[in-house]
Amino acid sequence: MKFNLLIEIMKVLIADDDKVLRMLMERQLQGWGFEVITAQDGEEAFKILTTESEPPRMLILDWEMPNLDGIGLCRKIRALESNDPPYIVLVTAHSDQEHLATALQAGANDYISKPTKAVELRARLGVGLRTLELQNRLNIANEMLAYKAEHDELTGLQNRASLIEHLDNEIERTKRTGEPLALAICDIDFFKRVNDTYGHPVGDRVLKEFAERMKDTFRPYDLVSRYGGEEFVVCCTSLESEPESIFERFRGAIESTPFLDKDLSLGITVSIGIATFDGISTMATKEIMLGLISDSDKALYAAKNSGRNQVVMYQPNQHTECEQPEEMLNDGQIC
Ligand code: GH3
Ligand code: MG
Ligand code: MG
Ligand code: MG
Repeated sequence: MKFNLLIEIMKVLIADDDKVLRMLMERQLQGWGFEVITAQDGEEAFKILTTESEPPRMLILDWEMPNLDGIGLCRKIRALESNDPPYIVLVTAHSDQEHLATALQAGANDYISKPTKAVELRARLGVGLRTLELQNRLNIANEMLAYKAEHDELTGLQNRASLIEHLDNEIERTKRTGEPLALAICDIDFFKRVNDTYGHPVGDRVLKEFAERMKDTFRPYDLVSRYGGEEFVVCCTSLESEPESIFERFRGAIESTPFLDKDLSLGITVSIGIATFDGISTMATKEIMLGLISDSDKALYAAKNSGRNQVVMYQPNQHTECEQPEEMLNDGQIC
């Protein structure tokens, strides 16, 4: 996300083949506090815009230039996909309506006649700045919306929708590479008691700390998500050791380090059910995903039934049926 809005939009590109005019305008703009980059034709300007890591977003382009003129440059810029389209002011000696229409149709935001007058140029750049600032705010709002759509508000972990989307990719990758993946459902034991005994806000803080510990334990490329309530799902790829021992370490760490909240010290335990996929399957990716979730859920169910605070690997034909994978994708109910 971008935070330094003003600095970013105060960078201006002047493209003009007339050296004297270019330098005059450069000084004028610097005097108004802009950071100026210059180009002597459209091609050089286009190169700057497409190679700089933070290219200028306010462009003042001369119409008549060799190699690539202002109109051609405008069209090339507008053909690029961008969330940060630049604000383009075309400068020309032609001031008739037809030229104005051509400039706007090519993608210019504004049009100014030569010789440019300082007061008019400053005012038009002011309009450009306001437009770019609005564009920035819109981009930030969109990024925040996209972030919210993928993350759980309380813990900041990925949410279920995001997990499902990424899981799809991980399963595809395992199918391609044969590198196994492990999917684990981690469900805090007797969490309702925490809420009932200490109140919901304490429960929330436990969930947050649990999420932090997960982020610290698993690697950045493992998918760690809040699946719902006090249930978290982890998908590990590029496994360095047996999934059972990875999750056994995590379970042990949760059990042995109490959760602290003000003067409270809470002993928390977690039950974990794991299912694995080795890439060998003729089933569709979605079916494999449902199977993995369902199998890890059966293993979790077995962990709960055998006294909680333990890790259970899914073993075909060894677990009590608990079949509602389709619903689980929708409402996360664990039976
Ligand atoms: P089990 O060992 O069988 O998993 O028991 P449990 O108490 O953990 O499971 P149960 O499903 O009975 O209760 C889960 C509780 O989690 C109930 C619900 O109020 C609580 N919970 C779900 N989401 C939140 C939340 O966002 N904040 C808080 N504080 N509690 C939550
Ligand atoms: Mg010229
Ligand atoms: Mg639960
Ligand atoms: Mg629970």
